[in-house]
Amino acid sequence: MKPPVEYRIRPSRPGAHLFEVSCTVLDPDPGGQGFSLPAWIPGSYMIREFARNIVRIEALADDKPCVLEKVDKHSWRTSPLRGVKKLVVRCEIYAWDLSVRTAHLDTTHGFFNGTSVFLAVEGRTDAPCAVTIDRPEGGQYADWALITTLPPAEGGPTGRCDFGRFVAPDYDALIDHPVEMGRFARARFEAGGVTHEIALTGRQDCDVERLCSDLARICAWQIELFGAPAPVTYYAFLVMVVGEGYGGLEHRASTALLCSRADLPWKGMVGLSDGYKSFLGLCSHEYFHTWNVKRIKPAAFTPYDLTRENHTRLLWAFEGFTSYYDDLALVRSGVIGVDDYLALLGKNLSAVMRGSGRLKQSVAESSFDAWTKYYRQDENAPNAIVSYYAKGALIALALDVQLRAGSAGRCSLDDVMRLLWQRHGCTGVGVPEDGIFAAVREVGGEGLGTRLARWLRQAVEGCEDLPLAKLLKPMGVVLEATPAGVAPVLGVKLAAGAGEPRVANVYDDGAAQTAGVSAGDVLLALDGIRIASAKALDDLLARRLAGEQARLHVFRRDELMAFTLELGEAPADKYVLSLAPRAGAAAVALRRGWLGS
Ligand SMILES: [Zn+2]
Repeated sequence: MKPPVEYRIRPSRPGAHLFEVSCTVLDPDPGGQGFSLPAWIPGSYMIREFARNIVRIEALADDKPCVLEKVDKHSWRTSPLRGVKKLVVRCEIYAWDLSVRTAHLDTTHGFFNGTSVFLAVEGRTDAPCAVTIDRPEGGQYADWALITTLPPAEGGPTGRCDFGRFVAPDYDALIDHPVEMGRFARARFEAGGVTHEIALTGRQDCDVERLCSDLARICAWQIELFGAPAPVTYYAFLVMVVGEGYGGLEHRASTALLCSRADLPWKGMVGLSDGYKSFLGLCSHEYFHTWNVKRIKPAAFTPYDLTRENHTRLLWAFEGFTSYYDDLALVRSGVIGVDDYLALLGKNLSAVMRGSGRLKQSVAESSFDAWTKYYRQDENAPNAIVSYYAKGALIALALDVQLRAGSAGRCSLDDVMRLLWQRHGCTGVGVPEDGIFAAVREVGGEGLGTRLARWLRQAVEGCEDLPLAKLLKPMGVVLEATPAGVAPVLGVKLAAGAGEPRVANVYDDGAAQTAGVSAGDVLLALDGIRIASAKALDDLLARRLAGEQARLHVFRRDELMAFTLELGEAPADKYVLSLAPRAGAAAVALRRGWLGS
């Protein structure tokens, strides 16, 4: 067996956002030992080149300085090490990115993903690892706590709240347990035989009891869906609370989340605010990944190659199906009502239908190009790409209702997920690129399964809109499309925020694009009246009719430009789902099986 690799991480200068990290290798490669830092973090499909945050790096061979040559943007190699017993590489890493993907350190708290701080040792990535996590020095940090799902080295219970030494069976595990340190609020709940903890970092007034009770129902439902026991015994939600933020990243036994303070529940909250529903949907999404993508993985990710893009055409299944189940878990566990759920579905459908990119890129292509397109969206994204999350969720919905209706409720997408779990999640065998079609064929059986596998392939490889109104009818659900309002439109989306009305996106074939208005233009006046804000534009348009001519003034960079355009009709892109008032008994039974009673 290879000797363990020993790491140590110290928040050495919180005020300067610096971690000091060392990596000790016994019996290093005599020909010269190689090291590298990942170029990306699993779950976030973009090359991020974490090594750019390394400020200083040095190597010591048996306590004497040795040459460490940089080989490429994220790899190093020592000079030959004949007879060397112990090699230590020390580096200083700058951490000032308050996101779930990298590392952050200041005098209030620290957070890191292993991908940002732990060097991989060439030839030793399958060796066991140990890491000592130190408390920052100084009295002001004496009350800092730590939370991570890394198991403590002494074999104590996972999730204890202390600095110290932790272990991981290999490098892949080491970098899949993010760590939060500081003064955070902490709460615990049990669900499905698993101890869950939630840590809230940042100023907040969350009703933690309410949050725990809602999360417990969602987690218990998901564990039951895949079948107990859950693949973990301890799970942690690491939440960074900020004024304005949204994001999450899944890990094998935890998730790192970023949320807006206002989205958290408060004591005395009546019902569920839209923000809270969206936060619960995010928690549910990342938790579902515990099965779907952390254990049921595309073959392209087994193992991950952390030096470069890992292409798969299947993110519609790993992100899209997860996006379908995230909100479905809220209604099936009884946390939200059926009306709330149908409203969420309508919102997702409207978002997909708003962009013409859906007619040009399939979700399989969108998955493959995630690295250069979905994760690097520019102003033309709505006209050029489709989201494998949002459209993938619609495909999951369409597949689920067809399995249910076609089998009179005997099978569903739940069975497909369970089959994938048994066949790939429990065994660690990656899902081949045609593996989802095969699972659908098997679950649906001769006839239905074969037909739906063929349908699914067409749906993910093609760009046609899904016939959702027709597919939802047997479930006793009515789908209607209406214009979002009666006022005419320019065919643009303005940048969010309260600043000047700047065009973020120009939709294909709209009035603005036809006239020549471009993304980045700042709107000044419509027929000589100032457009001071997005609301001012809405107010001006509300008094006009589609088909009328209008004169629009804008600044493009520092040049004043004038356009004459014909005001467009509001597109019928607001989708509303409702329960059919006179659904038959069969439809009601199918709907109950789908959404719960
Ligand atoms: Zn996801």
